[in-house]
Amino acid sequence: MSLKRKIADIRHTLAFRLTLWYAGIFMLSAAVAFFFFYLLITSVIRQQTDQALSSEVRTFSSILAARGPEAVKRQALLQAQAAGEKKIFFRLLYITGQVFSSSNMSYWRDIGINRVAVKRLLDSRSPIFDIIKVPDRKHKIRVLYAVIGPGLILQLGQSMENHTRIIEVFRKVFITTMVIIFVLAVVVGWFMARRALVGVESVTRTARRISEGSLEKRVPVKKRADEIDQLALTFNRMLDRIEKLVTGIKEMSDNIAHDLKSPITRIRGIAEVSMTSDSSLKEYEAMAAGTIEECDRLLDMINTMLIISRTEAGVNQLDCQNLDISKLVTDACDIFQAPAEDKGLTLDCNGPGSISIDGDVRLIQRLVANLLDNAIKYTPADGRIDVSVSPGENRTVEIAVKDSGVGISGQDLEHIFERFYRCDPSRSQTGTGLGLSFARAVARAHNGEITGVSTLGEGSTFTVMLPKNQPNLVE
Ligand code: ADP
Repeated sequence: MSLKRKIADIRHTLAFRLTLWYAGIFMLSAAVAFFFFYLLITSVIRQQTDQALSSEVRTFSSILAARGPEAVKRQALLQAQAAGEKKIFFRLLYITGQVFSSSNMSYWRDIGINRVAVKRLLDSRSPIFDIIKVPDRKHKIRVLYAVIGPGLILQLGQSMENHTRIIEVFRKVFITTMVIIFVLAVVVGWFMARRALVGVESVTRTARRISEGSLEKRVPVKKRADEIDQLALTFNRMLDRIEKLVTGIKEMSDNIAHDLKSPITRIRGIAEVSMTSDSSLKEYEAMAAGTIEECDRLLDMINTMLIISRTEAGVNQLDCQNLDISKLVTDACDIFQAPAEDKGLTLDCNGPGSISIDGDVRLIQRLVANLLDNAIKYTPADGRIDVSVSPGENRTVEIAVKDSGVGISGQDLEHIFERFYRCDPSRSQTGTGLGLSFARAVARAHNGEITGVSTLGEGSTFTVMLPKNQPNLVE
């Protein structure tokens, strides 16, 4: 990979953006702190300059009061020479603005008298401060106008050299510090971003391995309970679910293939025999009947799968109406009485006179029929089947089908409601493995539930709970 490409890749990373944000925020905070510090320092320096100027004014006022204007003039010259004639100057003015006396002004000749300031001074009588910037001069000048006695104004100026020097030092310190802060912020920011994103990278690595085909891989969880751990846990949970679903789909397609293969093989066998053998009309009729029977079984299986899918889509798919569930169950028991007796079983049905519920008659009939069919199929001769209908809690009704049959092991019980799941691997009994998943889809579509309890060798009880009313049924 070329260097240019590598840099472009880094520029698009979250770590890079986080680092930039971190460095940016860090530098902005430092700049704001510097700015306030700068304001503080400059204001302190200006206050000091102003205090020094004000104290000079007080000195001149007292000299004027004690010894007169000539003494002030002499004092001004001495003061200017002592402080340095390039640092400070004095002008004594009459209130008319006419200059009475001044220090050596050869260095300060560009500095005039601010008439506006003088006017403001005469109006307010309190000292007026001014700042003058002379072109080509490095330092600004702080000027004070003050009335020091009757009819006499003092214009006092001082170079703001200290001020400029401090600003220069400050600028140098600011630039150096900002460069150091930038380097530090980038290094620390990059390090922190990388550390924070290690977990995300681990999730990405796992996702990549999974996309290459290893669905059993999981993201390592550090047990720090931070956001990354939460992400890893959620990701792992999602993977568990996907793995389960994929395994389920695989098993289901294996089962579909297996369950479709047998009737199709039988149909093919019959067709082959009919083509090759020299059979009588009666035999041909029997073969045709056999083919129809196998086709019916196939169609029944496909239809059941379709109904399950549609029913799983929800209550909106139901053709709900008010029905007497007690009567529906009793009628079903009547129909199954004959096959039960044929097998030597006692089938008893107990239910109150009438319980009305909202539901899809055809689907609930089929649900009850599936449970009765299973009870008869999986109960050996001389066994008992007890069916009951009773009102449940919270405006529900419960249909229970109890048998004294072969029972179901705990391990199988967890899976019996899955499509195509059959406990008997040898498939000695006829069936599709769709009966209970159909029953569950129907119960859930009615906002109800089906549960099964069983003891191996003693029998099973399947209980269907259905609400009496469907909330979205239009009366
Ligand atoms: P099937 O068409 O095989 O009966 P079901 O979905 O109705 O399919 O049932 C799934 C499996 O659960 C059955 O294969 C059977 O092993 C077991 N089973 C269902 N009902 C009973 C029962 N009453 N007693 C014992 N086993 C049962």
